[in-house]
Order: sequence, then structure tokens, then C-alpha cells
Amino acid sequence: MPNGNFKVPEPSNEPVLSYIDGSSEKQAVKEALKEAKSQEKDVPMYIGSNEIRTGQKIRMSPPHDHQFVLGYFHEGNASHVHDAIEAALVARQAWANLSWEYRASIFLKAADLIAGPYRAKINAATMLGQSKNIYQAEIDAACEYIDFLKFNATYMEEIYSQQPKSSIGVWNRMEYRPLEGFVFAVTPFNFTSIAGNLCTAPAMMGNTVVWKPAYTQIYSAQVIMEIFKAAGLPDGVINTIYVDGPVAGEVVFNHSEFAGLHFTGSTQVFKHLWKTIGQNIDIYNNYPRIVGETGGKDFIMVHASADAQEVSTAIVRGAFEYQGQKCSAASRVYIPDNLWEEVHERLISILKRIKMGSPENFTNFINAVIDKKSFEKIAKYIDDVKISSDAEIILGGNYDDSKGYFIEPTVVLTSNPRYKTMCEEIFGPIVSIYVYPKNKFDATLKLVDESSSYALTGAIFSKDRYAIEQASDVLQYAAGNFYINDKPTGAVVGQQPFGGARGSGTNDKAGAQMNLLRWVSARTIKETFLEVTDYNYPFLDSK
Ligand code: NAD
Repeated sequence: MPNGNFKVPEPSNEPVLSYIDGSSEKQAVKEALKEAKSQEKDVPMYIGSNEIRTGQKIRMSPPHDHQFVLGYFHEGNASHVHDAIEAALVARQAWANLSWEYRASIFLKAADLIAGPYRAKINAATMLGQSKNIYQAEIDAACEYIDFLKFNATYMEEIYSQQPKSSIGVWNRMEYRPLEGFVFAVTPFNFTSIAGNLCTAPAMMGNTVVWKPAYTQIYSAQVIMEIFKAAGLPDGVINTIYVDGPVAGEVVFNHSEFAGLHFTGSTQVFKHLWKTIGQNIDIYNNYPRIVGETGGKDFIMVHASADAQEVSTAIVRGAFEYQGQKCSAASRVYIPDNLWEEVHERLISILKRIKMGSPENFTNFINAVIDKKSFEKIAKYIDDVKISSDAEIILGGNYDDSKGYFIEPTVVLTSNPRYKTMCEEIFGPIVSIYVYPKNKFDATLKLVDESSSYALTGAIFSKDRYAIEQASDVLQYAAGNFYINDKPTGAVVGQQPFGGARGSGTNDKAGAQMNLLRWVSARTIKETFLEVTDYNYPFLDSK
């Protein structure tokens, strides 16, 4: 056992590279894209020390070019879920007993590998597999993932250093045990960094994990697994399975050693998983930890004093970056009538200039939505607006899936603040706008608070400090991440810990100490130096 109170190197946020013409990073990512497209990947599941190829191959294609073949992954079934759980349980004791600084070293090494030799590769995989432009890939797969790994190592050290007080003759200690069992990480398609963080955060705290990525993220998940191997993560600590969600759930949630769920995805799926766990509660040895970050219906509330240019920029970046497929994407906007004309004109002028197409062409701001199912769901919202008497499409509204799943950035104007595109999560490049009489600020704030069951992110734009404070008060529970004069997307690890409440999740703040605390079960140890030998208390001697 090493002796020393080790300090994790102080983390700072990974700088976002510019990818301007002529830069070495642009050259590197272009080469990585070419290299990735030159070979069909054959992606196995990783269970214990084994790479599992079932022969049940499922094609991976870029959403912006759905006939192109990036490769195939091998789909598993219930038996592979059993095997992955078994592998996690076998690896558990050695991993839990490994000194924490050695666990930290593995993940810090992974962060440096991503920052250096794997940066172009993981960005290229995210660009191709999830249709992100280079900037969106860089802030996700490279920078945010590096930040998650580095900041979490520091938070782990801080948690371990939190110790109770002791009185004379006693030493009280707190031991942060990993959970007793295995953790199930279920991850979404839209962020490579979230997928990577959901399996590594519990692992960093000494747990072993069964990781089930979304099928549409497996192409970049494979690069994450390569990085884990290169960083020296022992076999069995993170076991990656490609199994249909309900099939995996059926095995995991019926296992007595299921100890925790680390989920990010839709609200509907999370509620279903929570209910299943509740129904099975008698099966488990422990009460499982349930952590879930889910959907959003994120707002921009504009006060009459706001600046129209700032507001229109926030709408375009907040609503349309990554095709609106961010849980934090702005999707409902409340604009006072004194500003609407100018905001409208500016939106027309910006959207005229924005280009849509493959992320492999670096001039495209908008790329494709993730898959056919998503494309059809979003297109249906557009079609419904086209025949609605409550709403109209004022910009965009076209879609085409002949080559890739492309949907134009679309602006809906509605006279009904409760119209469905103002209330439901669409998860695509559609933003809905409701123009309110500027003297109805108070009533509109109430409307913002009450029109959606979600509470993930939201923003107030105003130059009036009284209005800002009022919005912050009325909307106290409407968003877990609240922005003043900024778009509601783009949270940075260590700066704006991320997560929402109400229908948006358990708000355990990814990439923060709060989240890591969910993956430990503390044992309090009291050691007495001056042992007591007499049962008698002095008060018993009184008459
Ligand atoms: P999804 O809910 O469709 O899938 C998420 C994961 O759950 C996938 O791995 C999927 O295979 C799995 N799954 C689905 N049904 C399952 C079942 N019955 N049993 C077990 N697993 C099952 O979500 P998605 O489309 O991948 O991601 C988009 C959603 O994620 C949006 O709602 C978005 O708001 C949300 N999201 C939230 C945050 C946040 O931090 N709040 C971040 C990113 C994404």
C-alpha cells in the first residue's frame, strides 16, 4: 500500500481548438476521416477479457449518407448480458481494492490520450457516426470528455478527503466504499462524452460496470473502448454490450446484485426503468442508486429591454447547433412584441447564410439528424404545423432523406403558447416562438414555468436587473441550469454542473461531486482509544 496523501493534478478545461484553414488539427481530422472511411469496422462487444463477435451484424452508417457503410457491430442477446454481469462481478474485488490514485491514473491517462493521439480519431468517429460538424465533435468527444475525466479525478480526491470530526480518545473515519454489486450504464446517442462519462464515473469510484450504449453511438463507443485499453483499464471493469434495451433490462433488473443505474436518455424510458426497478425491489441486496438525466423543453424568455441581436444569435446557436439534438437545446422562445420584428428580420438574415450538409464539408453548420425514426418523428411535427390553425412555419420546414436525414432549421410561430411544439420535446432543429404583449411579462413568466413538464435549461435575456431577478425567482424550479443573457446550451464541466429536475431527471449534476457521491456507500468507522470498562453512569449513583 502506498503511503502519502496524493494530489490529483489540478484540472483546467481543455482548450477548444479552432480548426481554421491551415491548422494542424484540421489536417489531422481530415486524415482521420479519410482513414475511417477507408475501412469497414468490425466492432465486437467487450466482456471481461473477451472480444465477442456473435455474427449477428448490424450496419453502421453516417446519418448524412445512410447508404455508406462505416462498418458493422455484433449484436448480443440475453446470454451476453448475463456474461457481462458475471465479468463485472468477477473483476469487482480487485478493482475496488486497487488504491484510488491508481484508478485515477488510468482515467487521467485516458484523458491525455484523447487530448493527444486519439483526438482526431474520436472526433472523426463522432462526426461520421453521429453527424456532428467538427466544432460540435470537438466540444463533445474531445473537450468535454477530457474535462469529465480530469475533473472527476479531482472530485474523487475531494470526496475521500471529507472526514468527520473526532472527540478526545476517539478517531472517526469515513470510508467511501464502492457500491456492493455492479452498475448498469445506459447511454444516449447524442454525446460521445456523456456515453463515456456514464460508464467511467462509477468505475472511477471503484465500481465495475455493464455499459449499454445506444446503437447509433456504437461507432464512437468503439474508439472509447480502444482508449480504455490503451490507458490500461483492467478487463472486466467496463463491459460493453450491444443488446436491445428491453432485453438487457430484463436481465439486469432481475439480478440481486444490481446496485445502480446511470442513465441518460429520454424521460419516457427512464420512467419505465424506474418503475421496473421499483417493482423488483425485493430482489435486490441493496436499494439500487438511480441516477437519470433525461429530456428537456428548454426556453429562452426575453424581456422588453433585451437586445434583439443577442437574442437572435442565442436562438440560432441554442436551437440549431447539432440539429437541436441536445437535451439543452432552446426549443421555445417567448418574445415581447416590441422586439419581435427586429428578431424576426435577424433570424431571416442568419438562416439564409447557414449551410446544411455533410460534416465532412467543414462549411456546413447543420448536419443530419440521427436516424430514420428521428427524422420521421420530427417531420411529423412539421407536417402537423403545416395544417394547424394555431401555428405556422415562418422559416425552413423542408426535409429530405434521400441521401441523409436532413431537416432544415425550422422556426414555428404560434399564437397558442400551449401548442404542442411549445410543450413537447421534439429533439430536432425546430424552435417555436410565441410573441407576447410586452406589458404581460409577469403572466408570461408564469406561462414559461407551467407549460412543460421538463425543467432542464432556460435563459432570460434582459438589460433590466429587476426583470432578471424576477425571472430568476419565478423560474426557480423551471430549469436546473439557468442562464442570464446567454443561450441555454454549452454547459462546461467544472463551470456549470449540468442537470435538471421535474421531468428532466434526478439532477445529480454530471461531472460534479454530487454525481460521484451516488456511486459510493460510506462506511463510518469509530475507533476508541480509551476503552470503557465500567457499564455504570455517574447519574445512577444519585439518590
Ligand atoms: P433513448 O431514451 O431513446 O435511449 C437512451 C438509452 O436507453 C439507449 O441506450 C437505449 O437503447 C436505451 N433504452 C431504450 N429503451 C430501453 C429499455 N426499455 N430498457 C433499457 N434501455 C433502454 O434516448 P436517445 O434518443 O438515445 O437520447 C435522446 C434523449 O436523451 C433526449 O430525450 C434527450 O433530452 C436526452 N438527453 C438528456 C441529457 C441530460 O443531461 N439531461 C443529455 C443527453 C440526452
